[in-house]
Amino acid sequence: MTTTTLSRRGLEAPTSPIRALEATSRAASESGKTVHFLNIGQPDIDTPPAMIEAYRSFDERVLAYSPSDGVPAYREALADRYYNEFVGELAPITAEDIVVTVGGSEALLFAMASVTDPGDEILVCEPYYTNYSGYSHMLGITTAAVTTHVREGYAIDPARVEAAITERTRAIVLPTPGNPTGVVLSHDELVEMVGICRRHGLFFICDEVYREFVYDEPRGTLAPSLLAVPGSEELGIVIDSVSKRYSACGARLGCLVTRNPEVRRAALHFGQARLSPATVAQRAGMAALDTPRAYFDEVLEEYQARRDLLVEGLSSIGLHVPAPKGAFYIAVPLPVEDAEHFAQWLVRDFDLDGETVCMAPLGGFYSTPGLGRNEVRLAYVLDRERLSRCVEIISTGLERYMVPEQDPR
Ligand SMILES: *Cc1c(COP(=O)(O)O)cnc(C)c1O
Repeated sequence: MTTTTLSRRGLEAPTSPIRALEATSRAASESGKTVHFLNIGQPDIDTPPAMIEAYRSFDERVLAYSPSDGVPAYREALADRYYNEFVGELAPITAEDIVVTVGGSEALLFAMASVTDPGDEILVCEPYYTNYSGYSHMLGITTAAVTTHVREGYAIDPARVEAAITERTRAIVLPTPGNPTGVVLSHDELVEMVGICRRHGLFFICDEVYREFVYDEPRGTLAPSLLAVPGSEELGIVIDSVSKRYSACGARLGCLVTRNPEVRRAALHFGQARLSPATVAQRAGMAALDTPRAYFDEVLEEYQARRDLLVEGLSSIGLHVPAPKGAFYIAVPLPVEDAEHFAQWLVRDFDLDGETVCMAPLGGFYSTPGLGRNEVRLAYVLDRERLSRCVEIISTGLERYMVPEQDPR
């Protein structure tokens, strides 16, 4: 028998640092510990009842495919009732500009695949959403990263972005609001990034899945969208998803929005290869468009309170971090050398009265070796009482970890 060998792509596939502690935390849970999961962006917020009802009320005889780019009525509703609320002066979005995808994740994959060839490069700002590099690996492209710093509130300096462009760069990929940084790009900053893209012939893949999640702003404020930036028509590709907006991560429903018909055609053709996005999810997505404004007001109030509690709690134990402006993550430098080791230890070897915390080590959110080694990402997706408890656990854990000789065991 001749032996089989995996591709280099398969062999070298990176694991997600968000799920890095999965085995350890499962073992901890099985051993009877209560593990508070702050490592993954799975909110505890209720999905709007109308969405759940859409799943319950499905009563067709056949659970059929939908068109590869999504149900036309859903795309029309998305354009008319959602996107055109914030495109400003620009030409309205039409159903033709939207390709419905299996989560925002697939929209990212389609967008990146549409504009790069193997060997090409995308430009990101680190720390970045790790799946950008996961998909880069899959596509045989590289990620070049412009470093942003906690001491600057992770602000993105356009001059540094422009200086990092090489002849292999095909696109800039940025989330706004940012995961894990919480940075929200202003309309003017988006205009500036579009200017850079135009000068260098780059696409701008703007990941706007947290559009609703902006803090310290009047109720109902959305993060500025690339879809409203003049001059972005040809180069702009917006990534979107119902996962975070409606706390519906399991629906696996997202979309790609672009006014560039060639990008749309490429995405449609990729979509034809996987035949169809989930049919019933699109009904739920349609129902979600009726979600009253009050739902978001309440959700935003809750997240902002959680953010404030976490920022203050961390500060009270000597971990000073600027309050994130959007999304629901906070990147925290810890007074340890190796945050991954600490995070593992916290779950495996530590508990405070039977409870511990699972955090995402931030090293995997950087391309530059060594960066983020002492940082973790916390997702504030648990209620305030539990978050306070988490701060206590982290505080006691840090004390114990840093002076192990005083460990009574
Ligand atoms: C969660 C997330 C996505 C996509 O998630 P899906 O569940 O696949 O829609 C995309 N980008 C960022 C920055 C995210 O945090």
